Amino acid sequence: MTTLAEARRLVARPWGMVVGGEVIPSASGRELDVWAPGTEEVIARIPEGCAADVDAAVASAGTAAVGWRRTAPTERARLVRVLADAVAEEREELAAIDAIDNGSPLTLMRGDVDLAVQRLHYYAGLALELRGESIPVDGGIDFTRMEPFGVVGRIVPFNHPLMFAASSLGAPLVAGNTVVLKPSEHTSLSALRIGEIAARVLPAGVVNVVTGLGAEVGTRLTEHPDVPRVAFTGSVETGRLIQKQAANEVVKVVSLELGGKNPLVVFPDADVRAAVAGAVRGMNVTWQGQSCGSTTRALVHRSLLDDFKDGIRAAFDGFVVGDPFDPETDMGALVSRPHFERVARFIAQGRSDGAARIVVGDGPVPDKGLFVRPTVLSFPHADHESPVLDSEIFGPVLAVVPFDTYDEAVAIANRLPLGLTASVWTTSLKTATRAVRDIDAGYVWINHSSAHIPGAPFGGTKSSGVGREEDLSEIYSYAQPKNVFIKMED
Ligand code: NAD
Repeated sequence: MTTLAEARRLVARPWGMVVGGEVIPSASGRELDVWAPGTEEVIARIPEGCAADVDAAVASAGTAAVGWRRTAPTERARLVRVLADAVAEEREELAAIDAIDNGSPLTLMRGDVDLAVQRLHYYAGLALELRGESIPVDGGIDFTRMEPFGVVGRIVPFNHPLMFAASSLGAPLVAGNTVVLKPSEHTSLSALRIGEIAARVLPAGVVNVVTGLGAEVGTRLTEHPDVPRVAFTGSVETGRLIQKQAANEVVKVVSLELGGKNPLVVFPDADVRAAVAGAVRGMNVTWQGQSCGSTTRALVHRSLLDDFKDGIRAAFDGFVVGDPFDPETDMGALVSRPHFERVARFIAQGRSDGAARIVVGDGPVPDKGLFVRPTVLSFPHADHESPVLDSEIFGPVLAVVPFDTYDEAVAIANRLPLGLTASVWTTSLKTATRAVRDIDAGYVWINHSSAHIPGAPFGGTKSSGVGREEDLSEIYSYAQPKNVFIKMED
């Protein structure tokens, strides 16, 4: 078990961006402080990239793309497996880097490393499934080849830093693209370490990592005319900007994995104890609620409301909030002071709302930095005007609202312009199938929550995103068909 002191020593070293296989500073000469959310101290410095760094990384990725696309798919897959194994070998170091840099418990961040390794192996295994098709035609042969785009721009958020940085390389690389990766400015260290590992095990320039602010590095990467494919995971607000930026100089293919305010619906015939356990798991409070798929709106049939609230209160009361390096910790610190203040503002708004009631939790832990207790607020009805009911808080805050009829529950579930996940609790097959049909979301659990099923498509409807990931379609999304007709007869 790595301690905080060991993690401090691990990250207290020079960090550089990875471009063309070299570890380099930014052309800007500037650096950003890296803050540890658990202690609010500066633990390292990273390059503050600029547009010139992005241009250099794209040029290097473009040069590497020529050889990489000609590399046999089985060889690309082999190299991605080597990358996966190298990541697995550094499991403890990478998990410790994320725990100190992101504030989530070390015990959880080990699982993030395992997930990244699993996903890299999954895409390596799909190398021979990226197939074209043959089209019936007279007088010749017509078929398609699935060809890579070239350079892929991959932008990832702060909440699962290593997991997103590493696992999101699998599909584009196996499909024959090279990558310029831009991690969150709040949590760049594990991505830089991945860049260093990739520089050791992959040809130079196949994976490049540029750190810096979204407004500068992210904007240039998404606008760059030599980046024909952009994949983004982050907030709806930034996703909308990226769709515009991507069209500034050329047109390009953009996929977006964005936020949610996901409903968990407890119908009157549900097993309420199981639903409470599902609601607790669905909040992902082990990552301080900083997970896009979190079910942060519990819609509970009025007949079960009291039992549900009692169960939630009992479950969250026992949560241990504190040092990410303590094995007893269930929940660590929020990622940054601005994000902490934003979450605290939402809780304060909820508390000052005369109609809302605190079920459990009292928000920020006094005098303890960026720690917030799981906080549950109940509202009298769904039409109640409150940002706690309508906005993605991205913190450990659950809103509970009652409903009386099936139609009312579906209307509340669908009322926001988001549609990432939904969790439905019922013992009736009929209610379950109706809810699957009627709730507008990209991913629905029946009597379950939070879990991502390996190989199943993850992504949102409405403003929660464009495209799907984690499944076979993701690798196809990094290739485009080239049609070939060979004339055989005159
Ligand atoms: P964010 O949108 O603030 O930042 C995400 C990334 O975008 C960062 O790397 C940032 O530097 C970059 N960025 C910022 N401005 C940019 C710009 N103008 N152009 C290009 N890039 C820019 O998101 P965040 O706060 O890091 O992450 C939280 C959000 O991510 C939540 O909304 C959450 O729901 C969402 N998320 C979605 C999924 C999913 O799979 N659907 C997964 C994880 C997180």
